[in-house]
Amino acid sequence: MTTATTVFGRPQKSFGDSSERSKRRKTQGLRETVDTEELTFATQMKLRACGKPDASKVLKEITKSPKRATKYRKAYSSSLQEKRGQLSPLQALSMFVDAGMNVELIYRFRVILEVISSGHTVDTLKFAAYTMDTAKLYVQLYSWHPMTPTMHKILIHGPTVIENALLPIGQLSEEAAEARNKHFRSYRQNYARKFSRESCNLDIINRLLLSSDPLLTSMRPTPRKRTKPFLKETTEMLLPSLFTISADRNEDDESASEAEESSDEESWE
Ligand SMILES: [Zn+2]
Repeated sequence: MTTATTVFGRPQKSFGDSSERSKRRKTQGLRETVDTEELTFATQMKLRACGKPDASKVLKEITKSPKRATKYRKAYSSSLQEKRGQLSPLQALSMFVDAGMNVELIYRFRVILEVISSGHTVDTLKFAAYTMDTAKLYVQLYSWHPMTPTMHKILIHGPTVIENALLPIGQLSEEAAEARNKHFRSYRQNYARKFSRESCNLDIINRLLLSSDPLLTSMRPTPRKRTKPFLKETTEMLLPSLFTISADRNEDDESASEAEESSDEESWE
């Protein structure tokens, strides 16, 4: 059946190249005379004949029952979402690297994060030089994306903060306090009086003070941690501490190891 007769003048476009509107016009006659079942069946046969058996089968499936097509669409879109959610941190990072992100910059941030979370005394002069170089590298590479406030804080004002803190910056993290949350909940539920708020809080605070007493905790064996050694660049920026004999991380205070177990840490802002 031909709906368009040969005309002189404008050359005929193929059906695939036509606009949605002319496709509608061209198929109008077909749609009016043939019913849906016949059309779908004919399409199935045509698809199979021209080497598209999968398309033919899917068409047959989705027209089987009224709800089948909806199920197909849902299953298909959820299969797409699963793929997106399954990226591991390493895969995500490798995607950035594949896309051309600078590897030296990533490595420098790893060093900086190690230094500020190590819990050891930091050589602020070396650290300042390192962060300034990193900031310059960032601006040079990605001037089209201004530094985030967090990055600016660490790279530009980080050395000043570390210099003015009374303790090594890694020991001032909120991890230790966060790790106490689960103890707080347990002490309140199991070891505190419940008949008044005041005595309840008194019992909790007393127990928290008891279990964090420096003398008592020093008698407790420190759990061995399985952590990777620091990078070379990191150890160069750390100063030998007055309180730890070796630069070994295992001699660290145990607050960090407690923090490792906690699951309800807040993410970095
Ligand atoms: Zn600033």
